Amino acid sequence: MATIDRRRVLGAVAAGAAAGLGPAAAAEAQPDPLFPLAQATIPILGEAQVFPVRRIYCIGRNYAAHAREMGSDPSREPPFFFQKPADAVQVVAGGVAEHPYPSLTQNYHHEIELVAVLKSGGRDIPAAQALDHVYGYATGLDMTRRDLQRGMGNQKKPWEIGKSFDRSAPITPILPVVRAGHPTRGRIRLAVNGTVRQDADLSEMIWSVAEQIAELSRAFELKAGDIVFSGTPENVGPVVRGDVLAGSIAGLPDLSIRIV
Ligand code: MN
Repeated sequence: MATIDRRRVLGAVAAGAAAGLGPAAAAEAQPDPLFPLAQATIPILGEAQVFPVRRIYCIGRNYAAHAREMGSDPSREPPFFFQKPADAVQVVAGGVAEHPYPSLTQNYHHEIELVAVLKSGGRDIPAAQALDHVYGYATGLDMTRRDLQRGMGNQKKPWEIGKSFDRSAPITPILPVVRAGHPTRGRIRLAVNGTVRQDADLSEMIWSVAEQIAELSRAFELKAGDIVFSGTPENVGPVVRGDVLAGSIAGLPDLSIRIV
């Protein structure tokens, strides 16, 4: 194996040298994946290009009434974050998309959220400059296996299994900032089978999108392709197979899924 690996690397170096690159750059410039791997992407409204997803960050308990319903004090403590894998994205581009009820849960919850997507990043980004890194916004759902999240939390174990599963991040196409600006207020709503369940205003966020980006960049180097789910308002709740969820955020594309 070592011989094969070395030959592959040397081959890449030789090819790179022929192209005028240094050995290190050549090895990086000539990757040869063992198998093809799909890049998760999100469509951009009115554009032929798509947005490639690098990481999905989510903030927890970012609306006071939701923090209270989750059993915590909505004082302005430092925000906390978790991640979903990039391929948890389920693009919902018009119409009603079929969303599979996931395994292992009997308490599957909706969380409607504004999603900010980044075109650039960095470390220790000041809040005053944070929005310069935002390419656009979309409407998203942070779908949650609430029983698993709570069960793991109660055992003081990581609750990743409750949040970071396949297709746990339905999202609409992106509306670029150049066309619609930065939404800081406006209605955010989710209806299930025509009955409104979540109904709040973006201005009720505890930490603004700019502050979230600033805080995240202290913990992680942010990069183009990172997307940030900015938290859900109150009245999260369960859905079952057959339910139709209709999410909307003022000025952004609507998001609709049927649980199957
Ligand atoms: Mn959430």
